[in-house]
Amino acid sequence: MHCPVCSSHSTKVTDSRIVDEGMGVRRRRECEKCGFRYTTREETELLDLTVIKRDGRREAYSREKIINGLERSLHKIPYKKDLFVRLVQNIERDIQKLKQREVTSGEVGEIMMRRLKVFNKVAYIRFASVYRSFSDISGFEDAIDQLSRKRSHSRKKKK
Ligand SMILES: [Zn+2]
Repeated sequence: MHCPVCSSHSTKVTDSRIVDEGMGVRRRRECEKCGFRYTTREETELLDLTVIKRDGRREAYSREKIINGLERSLHKIPYKKDLFVRLVQNIERDIQKLKQREVTSGEVGEIMMRRLKVFNKVAYIRFASVYRSFSDISGFEDAIDQLSRKRSHSRKKKK
């Protein structure tokens, strides 16, 4: 990134801000040679692929839908925005690694689930309950129960 005025390559970043639902970064830069101030934007590239839904319909891959699904699973759970951005990036990278022009919604779901499991256990269970649909509701509640018990247990241990 060179200075648009003097073409110097030595610029310093004075501020960076996450924009576009966390999928872009805007940076304020200052040229160290001539002092010119300007702004640059970085955006994550969109995946160009088709998703085959369970009913056989096809649609263009939508990051929006991935984000919505993740946010629904993370409802009322505090998390860091920049970690969330990385989560989405990791999911997209995993999808890319499949090296397919078309992926099934099931494949996408599995990838999201695997990444969520590391990101947040409760969100993972919520998500998994939708994707894999637990055989019955008590199975779902048991899983949540175990998690919260484990958590309060480890909290007690620390003291
Ligand atoms: Zn300059």
